[in-house]
Amino acid sequence: MTMTESTTDLTADEQRVNDLVDELLTTFPPKTTDPKEFLGQQFDRGLAWVHFPEGHGGLGLNPKLQKLVNERVYAEGAPNPMYRNPIGHGMTGPTVVAWGSDEQKQRYLRPLFTGEEIWCQLFSEPGSGSDFAGLSSTGVKDGDEWIVNGQKVWTTLAHLSKWGLLVVRTDPSAVKHAGLTAFVVDMEDPSVEIRPLRQMTGEAEFNEVFFSDTRIPAGEMLGSAGDGWRVSLTTLMNERVSIGGTIPARGSGTISALVQTWKQAPPTARTPAARDEVMKLWSRAEVLRLTNIRANQNRKMGDPGPEGSIGKMASADLNKDIYDQAIDLLGAEGLLYGSYEMVRPETAMGADTLQKAFLRSRANSIEGGTTEVMKNILGERVLGLPGDVRVDRDKPWAEVPRS
Ligand SMILES: Cc1cc2nc3c(=O)[nH]c(=O)nc-3n(C[C@H](O)[C@H](O)[C@H](O)COP(=O)(O)OP(=O)(O)OC[C@H]3O[C@@H](n4cnc5c(N)ncnc54)[C@H](O)[C@@H]3O)c2cc1C
Repeated sequence: MTMTESTTDLTADEQRVNDLVDELLTTFPPKTTDPKEFLGQQFDRGLAWVHFPEGHGGLGLNPKLQKLVNERVYAEGAPNPMYRNPIGHGMTGPTVVAWGSDEQKQRYLRPLFTGEEIWCQLFSEPGSGSDFAGLSSTGVKDGDEWIVNGQKVWTTLAHLSKWGLLVVRTDPSAVKHAGLTAFVVDMEDPSVEIRPLRQMTGEAEFNEVFFSDTRIPAGEMLGSAGDGWRVSLTTLMNERVSIGGTIPARGSGTISALVQTWKQAPPTARTPAARDEVMKLWSRAEVLRLTNIRANQNRKMGDPGPEGSIGKMASADLNKDIYDQAIDLLGAEGLLYGSYEMVRPETAMGADTLQKAFLRSRANSIEGGTTEVMKNILGERVLGLPGDVRVDRDKPWAEVPRS
């Protein structure tokens, strides 16, 4: 295809998307339509994820066109599906589309998008976080079902979830990456126990999850037995981009909270040294924004590149430094926290005060893969440095010594 043809196609596609958005906004004005109804109608018109297949919330178009949809519907006050169902929208939805059967796509994607069914991601275990492929929860085939036993941890929003994307070990005799299988599990099954884990913010947005002889129908497998590692890579790639790859308008996003705090700070706090720090952070935020734009363009050209890991790593450090500086500007007020009562939040997105955002940002360099692990990936794949020591890579999982 020539460049001219592709530009022409894009314009025709843009027109098609614009027409569909016009029709959606006219028939279901967001301000007077129930949010779930609006999101359902958005899904049915293929405007949920425009790059998904037709009939499954998309139109099979260039993902770039989603920005057009989002800008137009949000400007009219439409609900953001990511807010209520961040794991579902950002990570498990793309995984179901990539690996699910037609039946699974049909069953799961619409209520996921409308937020009627919340999702969680059941990967990490007490002994396997960074080394998630070494996990030990088991799945054993029993006729048309699989019986699952084990413990997951740090499961964000499990307490609100209807469905979980679960990875377990189904073949201990295979090497660790090859013996994993992914399933969709019903979080409301009585054999699934969910216990809160309280964070330093006082909230418990994540959980421990215990499976005791949980029966999962074979039809709820994603991909085939042994595909669990490849399925989870789809989720993890989307997670990194979801966490560190957002492209806010210049000066918006986290940095805007700092600029706002600077403007409202008393003159005694607005010293030349503090101003210098705020300017440095603003510049770092802009560099990250531009890096994410470049990564986004590369992804569209079919070259994902290392920027996903760079964005994840850089945004974690940047967020922490931004909130450090904001708390400094607040002075003694930065120590006031309001209530420390345990809350079970309705979402894992955002914090309502700077103090809470400061505490919550500490987790940014852990969740979605730690900064050290991102550095390993970049060191090995980009800089070509010698690989991390991996003594268990070629051994059957069952023969790897573990405590
Ligand atoms: C807020 C939050 C939400 C989360 N939500 C979810 C969720 O919904 N679902 C889910 O499955 N998980 C979730 N997690 C878990 C998260 O993915 C893990 O915490 C993370 O992958 C790190 O694993 P770990 O905690 O077991 O730490 P470990 O892997 O035990 O790491 C401990 C330390 O050792 C370092 N380290 C480990 N291996 C290496 C290495 N090879 N080289 C150098 N350093 C290394 C790490 O960087 C870290 O500093 C969440 C975590 C947080 C903080």
